[in-house]
Amino acid sequence: MDKKEEIKKLNKKVAHCQLCPLFEKAIQGVPGAGDPDTEVMFIGEGPGYWEDQKGLPFVGRAGQLLDELLKSIGLSREEVFIANVVKHRPPNNRDPSSEEIEACSSFLDQQIKIIKPRIIVTLGRFSMQKFFPNEFISGMHGQTRFVDFDDQRIIVIPMYHPAAALRNGTIKEAAEKDFLKIKEFLDNKETQKERKEEKKEQIELFK
Ligand code: URA
Repeated sequence: MDKKEEIKKLNKKVAHCQLCPLFEKAIQGVPGAGDPDTEVMFIGEGPGYWEDQKGLPFVGRAGQLLDELLKSIGLSREEVFIANVVKHRPPNNRDPSSEEIEACSSFLDQQIKIIKPRIIVTLGRFSMQKFFPNEFISGMHGQTRFVDFDDQRIIVIPMYHPAAALRNGTIKEAAEKDFLKIKEFLDNKETQKERKEEKKEQIELFK
């Protein structure tokens, strides 16, 4: 099964999920969206009002800023994959509880396993804590770390949540600067060569 089909199958499971009480007050599940064949995956916190209405991640004001930040490094949301830590909207946009995050974690894990991104950009503290539970975003944002996940080495770059950037100009400037890290990695000749070789090996394997 190709990645798109696997993601579609997973989306159906999210639509029927009742693993935590969040589904009771939400209109619909918001599994995530974008290109499952991408190298770059973004993980936010959870759907807000507009995401709940539309069933798509980051389509409100924070999403507009995310679009701008992506554009600043020559990317669009169609070229990356965007998901969240929890897939149903927490009422009144409250923080998701640790029980809700835990209940939803297998969906996020499966998304990462299917997509196999080279880079994961965590947006805000909840998604950062998935990989670095004891760190603070103020100290860690913009840093590039390797994480071993399901036999895969992934580069994880924690970043501020776009909603925080909307509220605070200094955070916005930091987010703009941090985004350049993604571009640096994608433009790096050495890693480009590595990626091409890996892709070639995968193609050989399936011949
Ligand atoms: N904030 C998030 O963390 N995720 C969304 O999808 C929208 C806003």
